[in-house]
Amino acid sequence: MQVYKLIDSHCHIFSSEFDEDRLNILEKALEVGVVGIIESALDLKTALKILNEIKHPSTNLKIYLSIGLNPCCITGHIFNETVGFIEENLKNLTAIGEVGLDFYLMQDSIGREKQISYFKRFISLSKEENLPIIVHSRSAGKYAIQILVEEKAEKVLLHAFDGSSKSAKLGVENGFFFSIPPSITYSIQKQKLVEKLPLEQLLLETDSPSLSPYRNIRNTPENLVISLREVARIKEVDLKDVAEITFKNTVKLFNIKSL
Ligand SMILES: [Zn+2]
Repeated sequence: MQVYKLIDSHCHIFSSEFDEDRLNILEKALEVGVVGIIESALDLKTALKILNEIKHPSTNLKIYLSIGLNPCCITGHIFNETVGFIEENLKNLTAIGEVGLDFYLMQDSIGREKQISYFKRFISLSKEENLPIIVHSRSAGKYAIQILVEEKAEKVLLHAFDGSSKSAKLGVENGFFFSIPPSITYSIQKQKLVEKLPLEQLLLETDSPSLSPYRNIRNTPENLVISLREVARIKEVDLKDVAEITFKNTVKLFNIKSL
């Protein structure tokens, strides 16, 4: 099989699901061409674990740190602590995120308003620190894009966007990027999204351990090639070209210099 150089633009390999076999999983990804991952920590303990790996690498696969918070679990204290970490570790940070809105898990309007207010604060921090922002927008795609536009967000990745391609269009017009997970194999919504969005604004992600190409199985960065294959098939473009363009898009968005 031909191997193409790829970057997993959003995953969680340092979560406990990979405590038994992390290194093995990363090596397997490297074998199929995944040369880098943007690893999203959702708490400080995980972020410190990733920082340690970045300083003392145990694999040739390059790891980039992004830190965010699950929108359902933010308190003022956790938010302030996370912002403190971001400000102290700017030189080791590649992005802020994932942050955003989860209207699937949060049904009541007061809770949703709270999520929106923290989301706006993260957007403004990403602009102040000139860091890209990785956005989680479960059952809230349309609202997330509206807020990002209103708040004039600059470097945006909408990961695993689950809204309509009509809602995504406003994001495209504003220069936002969209990353496509391996669950595209069975998600008609993701297939439609890829059909409608320009390749120049697409990235590949796995969101490991979630969004596997097969339901209820742990996802791994090795499956990034499945996202690649599906995007190439839907767009009717050569694998090589999709690999090159999505790689270039990722490097551009995250300002990656050392790959
Ligand atoms: Zn995620």
